[in-house]
Amino acid sequence: MDTDCLFCRIVAGEIPATVVHETDTTLAFRDIQPKAPVHVLVIPKDHHPDIAALALADPGVAADVLAAAATVAEAEGLRTDGFRLIVNNGSHAGQEVAHVHAHVLGGAPLGPMVCR
Ligand code: 5GP
Ligand code: ZN
Repeated sequence: MDTDCLFCRIVAGEIPATVVHETDTTLAFRDIQPKAPVHVLVIPKDHHPDIAALALADPGVAADVLAAAATVAEAEGLRTDGFRLIVNNGSHAGQEVAHVHAHVLGGAPLGPMVCR
């Protein structure tokens, strides 16, 4: 755990979150400022700064994050009409929290993939 990391502190229970799914290696909780009717963040419980670091260090847990995202999408009723899975990496992508997280977004048409 990184004691300065917001999402590590959510994993540790020090900061409250609305958890919707949990496995041995992952946690999924609602985004505090949702950008779509459904907006859930899926994280590995262990601290990794971004998806590249996670995939290199622990590809099995990277797969666990994907599987958890699919489970969340199913549970949130997003399978029929679809959903978007976004992982922002680094400053050009606008990553704000340096603990890798996948955004599960859906519940309405989401518009173009990238706004310029
Ligand atoms: P990023 O921009 O790093 O890809 O996404 C970070 C996300 O974390 C944002 O969508 C933001 O709303 C969310 N977030 C920031 N602080 C908190 C918090 O304390 N709790 C929850 N649940 N989400 C947060
Ligand atoms: Zn962390």
